[in-house]
Amino acid sequence: MKLYNTLSRSIEDVQPFVSGKIGLYACGPTVYDYAHIGHMRKYTMDDVLIRTLKHAGFAVTHVMNITDVGHLVSDDDVGEDKMEKGAKKYGKTVWELAKEFEAFFWKSIDAMAVNHPDVSCKATDHIAEQIALVQTLEQKGFTYVIGDGVYFDTSKFPGYGELSRLDPEHLKAGARVEMVEGKKHPTDFALWKFSPEKEHRQMEWESPWGKGFPGWHIECSAMSMKYLGEHFDIHTGGIDHIPIHHTNEIAQSEAATGKHPFVKYWVHHNFLRVNGEKMSKSLGNFYTVDDIVSKGFSPMALKLMFMGAHYRSELNFTWENIAATQTAYEKLVASLSTAHQESDRTILSDEKLQKVNEYRTKFFSLLEEDLHTPEAMSVFWEVLKSNIPGGDKYELIMEFDTVLGLKLRENVAAYESKHEHIPSGVRQLVDMRQAARDAKDFAKSDTLRDEIARFGWSVEDTASGQKVKKK
Ligand code: AMP
Ligand code: ZN
Repeated sequence: MKLYNTLSRSIEDVQPFVSGKIGLYACGPTVYDYAHIGHMRKYTMDDVLIRTLKHAGFAVTHVMNITDVGHLVSDDDVGEDKMEKGAKKYGKTVWELAKEFEAFFWKSIDAMAVNHPDVSCKATDHIAEQIALVQTLEQKGFTYVIGDGVYFDTSKFPGYGELSRLDPEHLKAGARVEMVEGKKHPTDFALWKFSPEKEHRQMEWESPWGKGFPGWHIECSAMSMKYLGEHFDIHTGGIDHIPIHHTNEIAQSEAATGKHPFVKYWVHHNFLRVNGEKMSKSLGNFYTVDDIVSKGFSPMALKLMFMGAHYRSELNFTWENIAATQTAYEKLVASLSTAHQESDRTILSDEKLQKVNEYRTKFFSLLEEDLHTPEAMSVFWEVLKSNIPGGDKYELIMEFDTVLGLKLRENVAAYESKHEHIPSGVRQLVDMRQAARDAKDFAKSDTLRDEIARFGWSVEDTASGQKVKKK
């Protein structure tokens, strides 16, 4: 298995710390608003990654957090806590907000047929672990306290910015506009923030430094290390996390444990865009899975759209695009049902067996090469059009679907329960008639219609192809 590692900016062979076992941590959602299909793209591709790793023989422990405190509107440790802001917007308590939007997130994840992590952990359930980590950093001399909180001194950590290839000189020159007063360097970041004196915060905890709440980055270090150990194999997130969130996670984790690297492989997903802009909660240009469904599209059509783009490339969402993948998904289910009904599987000829094996190897090696889903999907469509006998075609595509998660077995079964079973002899005549029609041989097409009728079936020509019904 090979993956692009942001740390080395190159494709690397995945060799976990413990042979055959992978610890994977995924940055989870901040539950202050509705999870949108941009989030779904990220978690769908995490899911494909995990399923591919498992298919390749690795045992994977997947941990994902839920951010329910401490993520500020600005990355510069200033501005409101997104959760407290969301609570005001929706007229709810922060706790109610977190509960409702977490539930909405899981509902969307389930609709997308994305597997749940082995451990899902909330920041507010791990305050003690975060305080303990800040104490370790304090004992090792990496922190300082100023008016508004406890800060990490990035100048004390020599490898700071390796992940994002930050250049310290450039950073000095481009010092952020709004810098917290007393911060020693522009890159220093909050580990613990004090509750503001004048403003009432709904979420706050006692700490050795005073009442307050954790900085955003510390939760991911504290929880990933709690569940996966002081260093682990894969960490995922969106590309927006490279310069600050993940850069800071590395600094504080390695400073605390003295172990390098904290994470072996950093996997970063590109964004889902809409009209060329990042789909985001703060820009308000987002659609949820519910929006997709209410417009008559299946979450599986959305997933099929995601598969068509490599996870490190941008993808622009349009309603035309989803309409096209919806049609493709429906045709896929119908043709898989046809293949399935040719279940009179015989022993495959050597040539066909070889073909099946070639397709299988090609498909999985494309995924094992940094998750090349678009190319793997070309193989998928090639299989569908190939002359492999139906039953074997069906089984091979179902094997592909163990990593894609397009709910094909379930949807083919649902399709079959709604449609009559067409005997293979009739199906053959229908296919011959399709070939005749494609060749504009309408006389032959009519003869075949009569022949089909002799078996007691009728064909009707519609925009989406021939509809076959029992007379
Ligand atoms: P957030 O809830 O904003 O903390 O985001 C949770 C995860 O979803 C992060 O890894 C983000 O990078 C990712 N994400 C947010 N918006 C998008 C988007 N439009 N496309 C892809 N991933 C996104
Ligand atoms: Zn994180």
